[in-house]
Amino acid sequence: MALIINEECINCDVCEPECPNAAISQGADIYIIDPDLCTECVGHHGVPQCMEVCPVDCIDKDAKHVESQEDLYQKYLKLIG
Ligand code: SF4
Ligand code: SF4
Repeated sequence: MALIINEECINCDVCEPECPNAAISQGADIYIIDPDLCTECVGHHGVPQCMEVCPVDCIDKDAKHVESQEDLYQKYLKLIG
């Protein structure tokens, strides 16, 4: 499933350049993740890079965007296509 940034975000901008899919951007109040672009880093990295670097651990799995590993891999193939 895609990931989501919660309200604990401190707008530090550390995650945005680490995303291989350019899925992260500055929203109205906090940073946001585009679920159509987030593959949980499948295809690029073993673990979600944004979660690795976030200093306040405010990035969670988005229960509204449930996807299997295969779904995420297919999304990755589509994005690089
Ligand atoms: S999990 Fe990976 S693809 Fe998804 S927003 Fe984070 S860095 Fe980007
Ligand atoms: S690294 Fe965490 S705190 Fe910093 S902008 Fe990204 S989600 Fe927000």
